[in-house]
Amino acid sequence: MNTTSSVANTPLANGSAASDDAPKIEAVDGSAAKQSSAPPTNQDALNTKTLKQIFQLSPIGMTILDLSGSFLSANQSFCEAVGYGEYELIGRSFSELTHPEDVSLLKSLGDQLLEGDRQHFQIETRHWSKDEKPLHVGLTVTMVRDGQQRPICFLIQVINLTEQKWMEAQLSHQAFYDELTGLANRALFVNRLEQAVIRLERNASSQCAVLFLDLDRFKVINDSLGHSIGDQLLTALAGRLEACIRRCDTLARLGGDEFSILLEEIDGIEDALAVCDRVHNSLKTPFKLGSYEVFANISIGIVCSSAGYEKSSDLLRNADTALYRAKAQGGACHTVFDQTMHQRAVALWQMATQAQFAVQRKELKLHYQPIINVKHNQVVGVEALIRWYHPQHGIISPGEFIPVMEETGVITMIGQWVLKEACMQVGQWQKQLADDCIIKLNVNLSARQLMQHDLAQQIKAILDETGFPAENLRLEITETAIMHNSAEACEVLKELRAISVELCIDDFGIGYSSLSRLQQLPIDILKIDRSFVQNIGENGENTHIIRTIIDLATHLSMDIVAEGVETKAQLDGLRALGCSNIQGFYFAKPMKPEKALQFIIETNQPANSMNQIQ
Ligand code: C2E
Ligand code: MG
Ligand code: MG
Repeated sequence: MNTTSSVANTPLANGSAASDDAPKIEAVDGSAAKQSSAPPTNQDALNTKTLKQIFQLSPIGMTILDLSGSFLSANQSFCEAVGYGEYELIGRSFSELTHPEDVSLLKSLGDQLLEGDRQHFQIETRHWSKDEKPLHVGLTVTMVRDGQQRPICFLIQVINLTEQKWMEAQLSHQAFYDELTGLANRALFVNRLEQAVIRLERNASSQCAVLFLDLDRFKVINDSLGHSIGDQLLTALAGRLEACIRRCDTLARLGGDEFSILLEEIDGIEDALAVCDRVHNSLKTPFKLGSYEVFANISIGIVCSSAGYEKSSDLLRNADTALYRAKAQGGACHTVFDQTMHQRAVALWQMATQAQFAVQRKELKLHYQPIINVKHNQVVGVEALIRWYHPQHGIISPGEFIPVMEETGVITMIGQWVLKEACMQVGQWQKQLADDCIIKLNVNLSARQLMQHDLAQQIKAILDETGFPAENLRLEITETAIMHNSAEACEVLKELRAISVELCIDDFGIGYSSLSRLQQLPIDILKIDRSFVQNIGENGENTHIIRTIIDLATHLSMDIVAEGVETKAQLDGLRALGCSNIQGFYFAKPMKPEKALQFIIETNQPANSMNQIQ
């Protein structure tokens, strides 16, 4: 804030108080102003007219008020700031332009100046401009007195702080709010959670819940439809989530496609589960983003706190653990945290880091799930699905341990074992089956495996070693894995295609519009994701999507397999749409090798096949 002494010793104002014969004005610092009887100096050039000009041209807004607080004069900067001409201001009260809440303080400080308690004061106040825009200003108000110390007028210097205040508000908003969605950010969420935990300590009977939410396959949408559509999805999702909670709950975006919800003062876990149901229901209608219609699923981890002893960081970690479990179960679901989950997560991590020993100890086994052609009522292939028979933890599903193995990198070694084992197994079956009964073998590849540039050589070596025909091997790769490392992945896929292996896109789903990009890849088969198959028939949109996928795949000469078929209605729906390769519990769950072979033999015998399939 600037000081006032340099401008205050001047008879500036128009009107009576500032006329030429007005009493001499004393400087703010108390020293007497120079008298005209002094010897002529350059200072004489500072006659009244010049001083008025200086006042008018000063870049600092200045105004002079009479003792009742009405305008006597205002310079150009002041007039520009408030949007009034000087002639419009003269005679009006300064308080008319002042925010009502600031008027009384200004008045009492003005009274102190009049009573001589102080010479000037500085204050930040709020005002209105002529076009009713708010102004935030810094005022320096100086009492101008004559030689006998009688008050003459108030000199007010004004610095416009409006922009600076706006910037400050923006910065503090950015510190606590997410720019894209306008929701609370992680910092604000953690702060609110900490407050909630403190309140819980005081009131042991109250409960709160933390929900961690993560979009399933967001990366695919982002990569295939573009980041702008991805951003639109996140914003639209934020709106839908907001509609699922109460005003007193906190919804935050933690980053990327991760959101969190803090539910306070709930009656129990049922309240949190009800929110999850609302969230899942809200996603049943697709998002209309630009020219696309996009379905999104979300996984939710829930932790409920009724005891005041927990730390907020524990709640966050446990909600994350529960989310991880929900993801491992295939997504589009919610999971409530319990303590065993944490112990299991820690144990799993330790186990997975030593997973290579699981192979040596023969704890890893392959199960096989048949793929059936319903036109010919024949098993045409099997998918090899890994299981971990853990001595302490029982059978662990791949959804639980594959992500950890991916992170630790063990997956590349396990992947090789899976391929070799499956090739040997199905190669052996093939010898026992009739010559015209060809069983294709589907093996899953992880994203990490796809990043190995010598993957094709590794696979070729395994095919050579086991004698399994390359053309009977189908490698399943998820859309996400391809999109993760699209350029490199494309090269590896081409090399695999060159050794005659067939390539299949697994869990083909939301990003059906990304087919345009997939057509540049050497893909032979699309596997329609289970989530679409589940609601076929009941929901016109899914039927429409599956029809579109089938049409496009046919156009691009790709085969279609529908996975996750559980009911006759789903089977009939798919058949009606012309999809004849079916995998799912309706026909068979993944089975141990002996049972899988038995199923193939029984199904592919003409006499039995009709009974099984129809
Ligand atoms: P995926 O490749 O999409 O495999 C299909 C999954 O859906 C299997 O789960 C299978 O048991 C399940 N499934 C099949 N039909 C139905 C049905 O009608 N209803 C329901 N609810 N589920 C059905 P699984 O065996 O738990 O495998 C989960 C995922 O783990 C697999 O999904 C695959 O991505 C991964 N995975 C499994 N084995 C391997 C492997 O050897 N290597 C790699 N990298 N990933 C694997
Ligand atoms: Mg698969
Ligand atoms: Mg799949």
